[in-house]
Amino acid sequence: MEEIIIIGSGCAGMGAAIYCARAGTNPLVLEGSQPGGLLTTTSDVENFPGFPEGINGFELVWRMREQAQKFGARIENVAVASVDFSGEVKKITTTDGNVLEAKKIIIATGSAPRMTGAKGEAELYGGRGVSACATCDGAFYRGKDVVVVGGGDTACEEANFLTRFCSSVKIIHRRDEFRASKIMSDRVLSNEKIEPVWDSVLEEVLKDDNGVCRGVIVKNLKTGELREIACACVFVAIGHVPNTKAFVGAVDMDADGYIKAKDNTIVRTNVDNVFVAGDCSDRVFRQAITATSMGCMAGILATQH
Ligand code: NAP
Repeated sequence: MEEIIIIGSGCAGMGAAIYCARAGTNPLVLEGSQPGGLLTTTSDVENFPGFPEGINGFELVWRMREQAQKFGARIENVAVASVDFSGEVKKITTTDGNVLEAKKIIIATGSAPRMTGAKGEAELYGGRGVSACATCDGAFYRGKDVVVVGGGDTACEEANFLTRFCSSVKIIHRRDEFRASKIMSDRVLSNEKIEPVWDSVLEEVLKDDNGVCRGVIVKNLKTGELREIACACVFVAIGHVPNTKAFVGAVDMDADGYIKAKDNTIVRTNVDNVFVAGDCSDRVFRQAITATSMGCMAGILATQH
């Protein structure tokens, strides 16, 4: 039986792994289907303390991983299908059918991009002109016109990033002002390659004869008007949903699937010896530094006797 199993390998999982490993518990990290988590899909992280020049998201989380391994964390390429936390021994069934046992668990499974559900979106997702990651896919659209959907920091960051490659970027937002921080909004509004399309939502992603995106139809929510915009790709950036399906019924969650912390403990769940860290429980801050810090807290508590 393992002493501690950490589920997830993003900032939260790695923050926990560093603290658990340094405490001599030889933790096992199940890295899940996205090794390194969502941060690996980010370009420059400018607000993680200690890197005044910024650091690439992938590099940041990979350095955390090396740090955890240096102190004895073991990382396995395994994903979780279901769990049984009802007994003293916590049980995890992996997607390949193995059952793992541990005294303590830290859940750090992060979140996944939310999609709009517009017609054609799911069909063209993943290589045919609908993407949820400009950092991953932006370079494929060099010299093309693209659109971004959303009005938060992610949408603004992605729109700015895409102007490095693309001829034009239209940013489709359902209101007439961005939710993003002022610095990110200002960058978008002053970038001459970006044009905001206010008060509008994605209705449909259109495909050409080869089955790839040729444009979108957007609807103006104030006038009801439909408008066709030609584009080679749609980057959807409207927030995230927590990766917590495997834990339904095992720990308390809110109505949207975020794992709830017990009382004001931040990282303790309602189940003894089961802790949580990062974006699978945090719908407010969602930063690399806050996820890493939650991992630290969970790691400290999990290594106390
Ligand atoms: P977010 O702040 O929740 O913004 C989501 C955006 O998508 C909002 O503008 C929202 O519109 C829109 N939206 C949500 N559901 C929609 C739907 N079904 N159809 C159309 N539009 C929809 O998410 P985020 O931008 O991913 O940011 C998440 C967190 O990460 C935030 O705390 C953010 O500050 C942080 N972040 C920080 C940085 C950075 O500091 N460099 C970079 C990226 C993200 P409304 O505005 O109308 O609600």
